[in-house]
Amino acid sequence: MKFSKLFQVKYGKKVRFSHYDPSFTAGFKKDQVEKILVKDIASIVDLEYRLYAEGERSLLIVLQAMDSAGKDGVIRHVMSGFNPQSCKVTAFKVPSAEEAAHDFLWRVHKAIPSKGEIGIFNRSHYEEVLVVRVHSLQPKKVWSRRYDEINAFEEFLAKNGVTILKFFLHISKDEQKKRLQARLDDTKKNWKLDPHDLKERKYWTDYMLAYEEVLSRCSTKRAPWFIIPANRKWFRNLAISRIIIEHLQAMEIKTPKPKFDLSNIVVK
Ligand code: ATP
Ligand code: MG
Repeated sequence: MKFSKLFQVKYGKKVRFSHYDPSFTAGFKKDQVEKILVKDIASIVDLEYRLYAEGERSLLIVLQAMDSAGKDGVIRHVMSGFNPQSCKVTAFKVPSAEEAAHDFLWRVHKAIPSKGEIGIFNRSHYEEVLVVRVHSLQPKKVWSRRYDEINAFEEFLAKNGVTILKFFLHISKDEQKKRLQARLDDTKKNWKLDPHDLKERKYWTDYMLAYEEVLSRCSTKRAPWFIIPANRKWFRNLAISRIIIEHLQAMEIKTPKPKFDLSNIVVK
């Protein structure tokens, strides 16, 4: 089964979340998946090593989600197979004064992984049509043209050797409630509770509409979006590692040929 096919938003498709089940597990069971995940991490280690050795192309993984949907969990899981030397995580927060003084893609472009590297975006340029839209931080005239601007930017990157995979971690509003409640009740999780998340939760419907528009307008052939059912953490991790592996394999990355004639070299 190709996970990419199963979860990729087809270009031009109108996304309605009512058609997507955040608890979907494609018939997998948790204990069966644990073994697959260990193997998958080993495959990712090998593929990342080859990407680094080739040094020609890069991979960008974009993670977007509502609070508590598991961006951090995915990063911990997927990263456990990455070489820290060739992998970089960038978290996008409220823009600094310097960032806000530039165009909205300025800080993003600087964070694009260089050749041979893997970059993970914890939030991204999509905040510019999510939080900015939901809270009217910019006039509609400004944010509404950003869908096309983002598509053009990603097309440019893709043509220049950046493979882009964008994941929306889809949880239900009920599941978010459970997770936030657990942060309140469990002393070991208290540190994760952010009152800001409770405020944003009130805008759930507005965020869902904003996400539907992102997924409907910005899933292109070269920079696809994947809607990942994320109520089950183990399935979320499985789906994302599978999709990353499928794409890295399709890139047919080969370690470079030696630059010297090895037959003349003797190690004394
Ligand atoms: P965690 O809470 O797990 O550490 P997080 O991504 O929620 O991760 P926070 O520092 O809590 O990190 O939140 C970052 C905030 O920055 C989010 O509310 C997000 O919407 C906001 N943000 C990101 N990009 C922009 C932007 N371009 N304009 C305005 N707000 C933004
Ligand atoms: Mg937060």
